[in-house]
Amino acid sequence: MTHHSVCLTFDFDGVSSWIHSFESPDSPTKLSRGLFGVDVGAPRVLDLLDEFGVETTWFTPGHTIDSFPEAAEEVWSRGHDVQHHGWSHTRPRQYESRAAEYDDVKRGVESIVDLTGRRPTGYRSPSWDFSTHTLGILDELGFEWDSSQMATDFEPYRVREGWAAPADAPFERGTETDIVEVPVSWQRDDFPAFAFNRKRGYANEKAVFRQWREQFDWMVDNVDGGVFVLTMHPQVIGQSHRLARLESFVEHVADAPGVAFETVAEVADRFGSA
Ligand SMILES: [Zn+2]
Repeated sequence: MTHHSVCLTFDFDGVSSWIHSFESPDSPTKLSRGLFGVDVGAPRVLDLLDEFGVETTWFTPGHTIDSFPEAAEEVWSRGHDVQHHGWSHTRPRQYESRAAEYDDVKRGVESIVDLTGRRPTGYRSPSWDFSTHTLGILDELGFEWDSSQMATDFEPYRVREGWAAPADAPFERGTETDIVEVPVSWQRDDFPAFAFNRKRGYANEKAVFRQWREQFDWMVDNVDGGVFVLTMHPQVIGQSHRLARLESFVEHVADAPGVAFETVAEVADRFGSA
């Protein structure tokens, strides 16, 4: 029977994304959206995961760990993996220098070591994008895998270095590195679908969950050893009836033959050592 993997992942941004990515540190209302994720959303999500005994991956900025140590400890102590998502949740292209990016990523490593007693092996960019320095920094700090890019939909691959995209000459793909990519998709992310901002309204919740289910079913039917990565945010998915829809999705996956819930690290380790 073909083995498929489903990785439920949570970007546990807390208030960090509102401070550093959406640049609104003086907006108590925006910060309160992050607090909802910490105080209300995450506990609800953890209770749901407990019901199914599912181990998941929480990409947690060091800022969240250091600001809300009890909430971060709750995630870790209830058996979930904690991996890297920046310290400050700064978008890699917004750092002033390589040194600034390096220091922030290193600080995030230290926060995770303080929480878990071990170094993170995986990274998810706060903007799902790299600067020209990110890959080298990840290599220098001993990271083994990433989950931010999209060159495939349901299959891990290796991140490439030395690529070139000049405006006036053909694209050069570069060469494979040792860093394993476990790809994400904007289609399997709750934030663009459900998080209101002034440029974007709400998607139809029922349609989005149906789309996730259809994508999962297509993967099972068409991809050998497929890996389905779903990205969620406690401040988004942890709201009222979305949890019931998530529960229904988890039940659907759990009932599918030959499918296992895994952490992203488990998937990356298996691919990297194959
Ligand atoms: Zn994030």
